[in-house]
Amino acid sequence: MLNIEEALRAILDHATPPTPVTIALDDAAGLVLAEDVMARGNVPPFANSAMDGFAVIAADLQQASEATPVRLHILEDVPAGSVATQPVRPGTAIRIMTGAPLPDGADTVVHVEVTRAEGDDVLILLALKNGVNVRRAGEDMKDGAIVLTAGTVLRPGEVGVCAAAGQATVAVYPRARVAILTTGSELVDATEVPGPGQIRDANAHSLRAQVIALGAEPVIFARVPDTREAVRSALEQALARTDVVLTNGGVSVGDYDFVKDVLQEMGTELVFWRVKQKPGKPMAFWTLGSKLIVGLPGNPVSCMVCTEEYVRPLVRQMMGHTLLYRPVRTAVLDERYAKGSDAGRAHFVRVRLQERDGVLHAMSTGPQGSGILTSMALATGIAIIPEETPIVEAGQPVRVQLTGLPEDH
Ligand code: AMP
Ligand code: MG
Repeated sequence: MLNIEEALRAILDHATPPTPVTIALDDAAGLVLAEDVMARGNVPPFANSAMDGFAVIAADLQQASEATPVRLHILEDVPAGSVATQPVRPGTAIRIMTGAPLPDGADTVVHVEVTRAEGDDVLILLALKNGVNVRRAGEDMKDGAIVLTAGTVLRPGEVGVCAAAGQATVAVYPRARVAILTTGSELVDATEVPGPGQIRDANAHSLRAQVIALGAEPVIFARVPDTREAVRSALEQALARTDVVLTNGGVSVGDYDFVKDVLQEMGTELVFWRVKQKPGKPMAFWTLGSKLIVGLPGNPVSCMVCTEEYVRPLVRQMMGHTLLYRPVRTAVLDERYAKGSDAGRAHFVRVRLQERDGVLHAMSTGPQGSGILTSMALATGIAIIPEETPIVEAGQPVRVQLTGLPEDH
């Protein structure tokens, strides 16, 4: 049986390198750039005003103050989107709005708050240094400069940079399509009241949300009852339509756990089955050519934890991300944690983190059974109790993954 590090390595070793695509910028938010982005032209393209006020020659204002205002003659008005028809000359000013091009001759903009208009004249009440309130051409981006490098994630700020740089399409690694295939004859829709022996299907929904949260596109398949035929036909469809298939349920040792058998019949290669971990021991991983199949356990917490620990880094890697892992911090565990009969496996303990007096504390979210989904909902982190540590006493340090924060390594 593999340990958690070996299982993760085995999965990541099979991630297929992504092939870039060129798509509309608006479809690329969250994706990773496959090529450098260059500025087409200066940004801003021309010197312009950073304020509503008056374009002037700074030398005219040297003596200006509340007590000794300087009087200038207003030549014209320039709103944003217009261009002055004449230069500013000594003794004159042009009324200018934020973003309008600085008129020839002017070198400074006096903000309107320190001026007083009097008919066709303006009184300037403050001396300003040359260049104040002027945004220079190319001060944000220079024509031809590389403004974003390949490998950068397109967050909203980067999307804005691309647009300002004139790149309405971008070369990125595409969003992975991830099949979600839920098995279990006991499952009914969330809309239903479960009958005898039935429970509502939680995993189809939590998995879908996790796949969306990691930036991939979920492809949902109809829930599959525990029969060989149904499982096989669903797997065939899922493998035909996507490169990564997440099955959930049916990978344990029960009489109706057909996923393993059927995948073997289909000629897949079993990379591993079972990991020294809790929750999620029955997890499995197969390949079929370049297609990857992750067999997630059906217990709702196991399903979510395995998706967080293995599927998320896998799919991120397939989408060109170089940061694959959540931030990890050391925290003080507030209550004792004993593995009991499950010692010898790594435990993923769902915790809530809180900083008190400059020290990070981790509190268990309550009962940690693999069916206690509320333990997952309350968590802001996952504490990893290593394979070789049977007990952590209250007050001892633990390593915690901050599952609410973006990957940093
Ligand atoms: P399995 O891995 O199929 O043996 O399922 C293990 C446990 O998880 C059983 O108690 C199932 O009823 C439960 N389970 C399996 N799939 C789901 C699901 N989609 N939603 C909620 N519980 C599930
Ligand atoms: Mg099942």
